[in-house]
Amino acid sequence: MDYNYNTIIIIVVILIIKIGTNWGVYMNNVGSALSTETDVVCKMQVDKRNAKFTSEYKGKEYYFCSLSCKKKFDEDPEKYLSFYGSRK
Ligand SMILES: [Zn+2]
Repeated sequence: MDYNYNTIIIIVVILIIKIGTNWGVYMNNVGSALSTETDVVCKMQVDKRNAKFTSEYKGKEYYFCSLSCKKKFDEDPEKYLSFYGSRK
């Protein structure tokens, strides 16, 4: 090994910074993929982490972009869920 101790430390630090940066981007992508739900009323993607308008129906939580979408859903949930083939 030609590397002295300092060189190894510097390489390790650079690697940690590089991995750390990529990891952050990666986790962000995964995080937003996992935390996005479709608003069944208008079909918009809603970020669960920032969702203010939610409704629970038959044990499942639904996320809405706005109060008006939530109200529409609450008035007639089956109408919107039928798009997903969940109507029996
Ligand atoms: Zn909406």
